[in-house]
Amino acid sequence: MQSAFGCCGPDGDFFANLDIATLFVVTVFIMAAGGLLLIFAWVQNRGTHALAWWGAAYLMLAPATALFGLRGQISDFWSIEISNVVFALAYGALWSGARVFEGRAPRLLWASAGAVVWFIACRFDVFLASLWARVLLGSLLLGTYSLLFIWELWRGRHDGLISRWPTMAILGFHASLFFFRILLASFLPFPQGALPPDQRMAAIMVFWWLFHAFAITFLLLALAKERVEQNYKLASLTDALTGIPNRRGFSERAERLIARCKADNTPLTLLLCDLDHFKSINDRFGHLAGDELLIAFAKSLTRSLRPLDLVGRVGGEEFVALLPGIPPTAVMEIAERVRTTFASAGRSVRGLKVQATVSIGTASTAVTDYSFAALYAVADEALYRAKQKGRNRTELGRPSLSMVSGTAAR
Ligand code: GH3
Ligand code: MG
Ligand code: MG
Repeated sequence: MQSAFGCCGPDGDFFANLDIATLFVVTVFIMAAGGLLLIFAWVQNRGTHALAWWGAAYLMLAPATALFGLRGQISDFWSIEISNVVFALAYGALWSGARVFEGRAPRLLWASAGAVVWFIACRFDVFLASLWARVLLGSLLLGTYSLLFIWELWRGRHDGLISRWPTMAILGFHASLFFFRILLASFLPFPQGALPPDQRMAAIMVFWWLFHAFAITFLLLALAKERVEQNYKLASLTDALTGIPNRRGFSERAERLIARCKADNTPLTLLLCDLDHFKSINDRFGHLAGDELLIAFAKSLTRSLRPLDLVGRVGGEEFVALLPGIPPTAVMEIAERVRTTFASAGRSVRGLKVQATVSIGTASTAVTDYSFAALYAVADEALYRAKQKGRNRTELGRPSLSMVSGTAAR
């Protein structure tokens, strides 16, 4: 029966009636267009160098696929030797792009090794004459590069980019096809060399080649776009000078931390730190020294606390830290550690004896509610006292009004 698309022959088999030459032509054009699209995306986002690698890879895959598809119509030198050299280079470039995307240097030697191995193997007649040897080596090389690509994406999986998962899935299936092809070549004769003799199976393979080219291009573009958006988001939540969360970034994370601590009834402490006489330091030593001092304080604050503690720069020279799980009796000791660590770190910047110090006000959920506003108000009052009492000191927060009236009511 004729299908609705009018594509199926008398046996009604969709794949058996696909025209392989047409599929090849479409694949070649999709690869070339994909390569140009990736390069274009790179021109727009010069910071994402992986796009250039991937674009170059696709621009190599297009002619390699064309040469491969012309087997029998052009010389074996072009359709076997050169086609596979270019394939191997393209797959090496895809892998290099993944390394660059994950912040690693490309391994140029290894990325081009596949092409070199193939070229050398082709210098031996016994290799060229053995179809099985060619399928084995070609599939091993491209399958291994595909696995390396997946490995790089897998290693970076904790950054929360959604597109990396379908990319890994498609590449995983693609890699398994290369190894399946070795099995296939071991059991089935491959009269055409490259493709199985069965028209249906050959069409499925070329169809997959087309589909994966299209899907991977799309996913690589999506991956790069997601990364750029993530970077912008991160930048909007980070203080450019010190590299720690800014007021917005801190508030976002603080809300989550406070809700978690409230649910588990974990004590929470807030330290509010304000550098002493910072205006005068700026005036005497210059704005650049002031900036250095802010960086030094952010570093010393982070170093004095645990990795799970949340720090942020919430004003010009005002910093906060939220510390979960600290018993009220230990708060003074921790705040004093922050203060004294900075007293020595802030002694000099850029070789200038600035003798900077910090005053700290604390607040904890033992004396107020589980809310940033409540903790901040208590710590602010304590900080005011610290400044009043001569600076370079820590003052503990006093029970807030809500706590006092709550206790009285009980
Ligand atoms: P106190 O001991 O009472 O806190 O006095 P102070 O001088 O530290 O406080 P004040 O609020 O009077 O001055 C804060 C100064 O911080 C004023 C402002 O110029 C400076 N400042 C704010 N942001 C930056 C910055 O990013 N870099 C530099 N270098 N200075 C900054
Ligand atoms: Mg201030
Ligand atoms: Mg100050």
